[in-house]
Amino acid sequence: MLLSNTMKGAEMFSCSGCSNKWGGLAQAHCAGCHNLFSGVTAFDRHRSKGKCLDPATMTNTEGEKVLELRTNGAADVWAFPTDVDFNERFGRS
Ligand SMILES: [Zn+2]
Ligand SMILES: [Zn+2]
Repeated sequence: MLLSNTMKGAEMFSCSGCSNKWGGLAQAHCAGCHNLFSGVTAFDRHRSKGKCLDPATMTNTEGEKVLELRTNGAADVWAFPTDVDFNERFGRS
């Protein structure tokens, strides 16, 4: 179910099941719930017992949000709040 791509390039990828678009920088799109993640680690966090969790409601043991919604310029991307490289990797300043 994981559509992932680690190639660099200006090429944009899209999903046949939704309108999400993402560039070739290791973003991971879930073909199950159609959320876009900043990488495989973030993707893995929303999968639990073979099901998709809603990234908007995922919290850690302290009750803090695990992922926050950012944008890659073309679509919304769920990323870790600690992901300081996000803008660099996704080409946004
Ligand atoms: Zn999913
Ligand atoms: Zn999709």
